[in-house]
Amino acid sequence: MELSKRAQKISASLTLAISAKANKLKAAGEDVVSFGAGEPDFDTPEYICEAAREALEVGFTRYTAASGYEDLKNAVKDKLKRDNNLEYDTDQIIVSNGAKHSLFNTFQAILNPGDEVIIPVPYWLTYPETVKMGGGKPVFIETKEEEGFKINIERLQEMVNEKTKALILNSPSNPTGSIYNKEELEAIAKVAVDNEIIVVSDEIYEKIVYDGNEHISIASLNEDIKDLTIVINGVSKAYAMTGWRIGYAAGPQEIIEIMSNIQSHATSNPNSIAQYASNAGLRGDHSFMEERRNKFSERRDYMYDKINSIEGLSCLKPGGAFYIMMNIEDIIGKNIAGEKIQDSFSFAEQLLEVKKVAVVPGVAFGADNFIRLSYANSLENIKEGLQRIEEFVDELS
Ligand code: PLP
Repeated sequence: MELSKRAQKISASLTLAISAKANKLKAAGEDVVSFGAGEPDFDTPEYICEAAREALEVGFTRYTAASGYEDLKNAVKDKLKRDNNLEYDTDQIIVSNGAKHSLFNTFQAILNPGDEVIIPVPYWLTYPETVKMGGGKPVFIETKEEEGFKINIERLQEMVNEKTKALILNSPSNPTGSIYNKEELEAIAKVAVDNEIIVVSDEIYEKIVYDGNEHISIASLNEDIKDLTIVINGVSKAYAMTGWRIGYAAGPQEIIEIMSNIQSHATSNPNSIAQYASNAGLRGDHSFMEERRNKFSERRDYMYDKINSIEGLSCLKPGGAFYIMMNIEDIIGKNIAGEKIQDSFSFAEQLLEVKKVAVVPGVAFGADNFIRLSYANSLENIKEGLQRIEEFVDELS
C-alpha cells in the first residue's frame, strides 16, 4: 500500500530521539548529564497552577471557541500592546496548542504548492518540516558564526524571487541565542515589504534575554511590515509551561481566520484548563522572571567561559534563549575509543557512549560543525557535564 508521499518526507524530531536515548541510559542506572533540554528546568509558577485548580472548581471544562476563549485573547492582546507595542483586535489573534501548532496553522494557511519559505541556518528543526507539511519548499539562507549567526541582507536579497512567500525569523534564536537589533530588523523588514514577503516571527524566547538586550518584534517597526507579519509566541518558555501546550499567533485578520477554520476542524480549542491558567499567567505578576533570567545568565556565563577555555572548542556568547552553539570544527577527524569523529552526530554519539553526556548534534539544525548545548539545567550539572566534555576532548587522538 502506498502511504502519503508528502507525509513520508517529514523526518522524526532528532532532538527527541537523542533525549529518548539518554533517558533509556538513565533508566538503566547510568549517570547521564543532559544538555539536550528544550525547556526551562523551573516549575510553572504557583499562581498559574492555582488558576488551573480554579478552572476545575468553576467548571471551566467544556469546549471553548475553537480559536481560544475571548478573555485569554484579550490577555494576549494586552500583552502584545504592553510588551511589544503592537495593537491587534481579538479577531487577529488565535490561541493554539503551543507555538508549534501556531506555526503549523500558519503554513497551512499561507502556502500553495511550490511556494518557497526562507529559513535562516542554523534553524529550529521544526521549521523545514512544518513548511513541508504546508506544501511549501524550505529554502535555506546560511548565516555565519562570525556574523553572529544573523541574516546577511545582501544574501537575502539575492535569494528572494517570485516564488518566495515567507521568511522565518526567530529572535532570540533557538539554537544560536542571537538577537536582532532594531537596525537589523529594519533592513529585513524593508526586503519583506519591497517584495511582499510574509514574515513569520517566532518570538517564543522574548523573555529570556540577557545583558540588557531588548527584544523587538519586527511587526512593531511600521504598519507596512505589521501587515505582512505573523507574530508567533506562547507561554511555554516564559512561564515554564511547556507541558500545558498553549501558544498563540497574531496577524492580519484574513490569515488568522483561515488558521482558525483549520484549527476548528483539526483540534478544536486548546485545552480549556490550560487556557484558563495561561490567562492568569499573562495577567499576573511577572516578577519571577527576573530571578530565572539571572539564573540562566549565570549558567550561560559559566558555560561560555568553560567552553572557550577548552582547546579545540569555542562558542559565541548568546544574547538570549538558553542554548549555546559549540563549534567543534577542530575536533572533526579526530578519534576516540577507536571511533572517528566524522561529524556532529558521531561527536554526540561518542560523547554519550564514552562520557554519558547527552547533547544535540548541529546537523539537526543544519549546522554540522556545531553541537547545541542547553543550559536549562542546574549549574552543578552544567559543571559536571562540561568537565566530562573537557575530558572527552583530552582523550581524543
Ligand atoms: N519555537 C521555537 C524556536 C522553539 O524552540 C520551540 C520549542 O522548543 C517552539 C517554538 C515551540 O514552543 P511550544 O511549546 O509553544 O510549542
